[in-house]
Amino acid sequence: MKTCLAVAETVWKDIEATRSVTNDQLAIMHFLFGKNFERATRIVDQRGVKKISGEPSGRSIFQVVGESRKKEEYLCFPEHYCACYSFFYDIVNRGEQLCCKHQLAARLASSVGTYTHARIPDEELALLLSRL
Ligand SMILES: [Zn+2]
Repeated sequence: MKTCLAVAETVWKDIEATRSVTNDQLAIMHFLFGKNFERATRIVDQRGVKKISGEPSGRSIFQVVGESRKKEEYLCFPEHYCACYSFFYDIVNRGEQLCCKHQLAARLASSVGTYTHARIPDEELALLLSRL
């Protein structure tokens, strides 16, 4: 698990530096994250990632659209947390996966710059976070 995360981190850094994803990088990420990475790329392609920044602090969180027909939105921190069911079930409880597709989508979108950006007052951001 740790090695996987270290490899993924290196690839993310490269993607962030170039703001684009090569076929080799896609292959590595697919190997590490499997179907979740595929789903994440679909979410990013559909512009399903929104970055919400609090003003004036500049602190931010991502809101990612799910893939089901209901189009739920999940608040998530790419590296630490997602509000979705899979995060608690597959990752926290069973430890079977490294992270969920929303986290991957948020990280991918922020690495290549493909997200919409909403700025809200810090008080509103605090309110959003208090509901997590
Ligand atoms: Zn999630």
